Amino acid sequence: MTIDEQIIRAKELIAKREEIDQQLAELFAGMAPAKKGVRCKTCGELGHIAKTCPTKIAAVGSASEPAR
Ligand SMILES: [Zn+2]
Repeated sequence: MTIDEQIIRAKELIAKREEIDQQLAELFAGMAPAKKGVRCKTCGELGHIAKTCPTKIAAVGSASEPAR
């Protein structure tokens, strides 16, 4: 395995780990809504994750609407 292949493999594993972390965060967020350990990567607030971020959802919603 070359260095380049190792880097690609490492990136794949990191992406997979982040996906698992996200799923675990959602799982625990669903079990305990007031879980303190969950922090949003988008706005940095506690209590929700980037996937369910109200700031991000609002930004995406306004971005899809053409500004007049
Ligand atoms: Zn957020």
